[in-house]
Amino acid sequence: MSRIAFIGLGNMGLPMARNLLKAGHTVVGFDLAPQSLAALAEAGGTIAGSVGDAAQGAEVVVTMLPAGRHVRSVYEDAGNVFDNAVPGALLIDSSTIDVDSARAVAAAAAGRGFVLVDAPVSGGTGGAAAGTLTFMVGGTDEAVERARPYLAQMGKTVVHTGGPGTGQAAKICNNMILGISMIAVSEAFTLADKLGLDRQKLFDVSSTSSGQCWSLTTYCPVPGPVPTSPANRDYAPGFAVDMMLKDLKLAQAAAASSGAATPLGANAAALYALFSAAGNGHLDFSAIVKMLGGGK
Ligand code: NAD
Repeated sequence: MSRIAFIGLGNMGLPMARNLLKAGHTVVGFDLAPQSLAALAEAGGTIAGSVGDAAQGAEVVVTMLPAGRHVRSVYEDAGNVFDNAVPGALLIDSSTIDVDSARAVAAAAAGRGFVLVDAPVSGGTGGAAAGTLTFMVGGTDEAVERARPYLAQMGKTVVHTGGPGTGQAAKICNNMILGISMIAVSEAFTLADKLGLDRQKLFDVSSTSSGQCWSLTTYCPVPGPVPTSPANRDYAPGFAVDMMLKDLKLAQAAAASSGAATPLGANAAALYALFSAAGNGHLDFSAIVKMLGGGK
């Protein structure tokens, strides 16, 4: 059993930390929000007064933070993780952040004698609570093998995606497919309505034809064909518009810095930005169908 520092006890981090506690580890947590610290204590964890206090003597550090700047500051700033974790400690960043920051922090960690993996997740808060997350893990073979037992205590699937930064790359490439495919499915249902084609009939055809995809068969953006999709509960998330927008922006930043052409990804990011600016950021991302005039 290890002494684990857990930094970032929000919607995802807290249930993940609970699963590490259940597995028998000592978890010392820190978050800027006092209510998150109280919830960790209630679950049997130990509260630290700062990032540095949490990291002091930690053999493993897990971070679950909003963005790249938070991750870099928590690891690199004076008095924080690099200055306090035990030499050679394993550092696991499960936040969804930009690829450039992920690679920079991994290099900085290696320079200080630590082993860091980027291990973003899919599966949402439900998967975090149930311990069924999928981890996409970028790092050396040795680093990923060291991280695997801990990740397996918080998730069900662990995929080693390659070297540092490739976990983040896998996450944003996948979510770019998802954002684009949801808009494609939404356009098809909007056109079908205009053409007098019954929604269920379009679903029956496309779900068994070349238009088949997750956005259609699991998260169908119009009510009816898939009773469990968010469209049937007024687009309560699920996966919120603002989360999709965050990931599409990360994909665009990565496309710009790597020189990849992603014209549909750029359009998807622009459409989700407009939809969010109109006050819909809290809705499930499948509600984008409403912006096209469909989904009623
Ligand atoms: P959240 O906002 O609920 O939690 C982030 C926490 O980090 C907050 O409690 C905040 O107080 C804390 N924090 C920020 N700066 C800090 C600092 N310097 N020191 C200590 N704590 C600090 O967000 P979340 O939903 O838990 O998401 C966390 C990460 O996981 C994000 O990168 C997100 O994109 C990713 N993610 C979220 C989901 C989801 O469904 N919520 C799914 C997959 C991935």
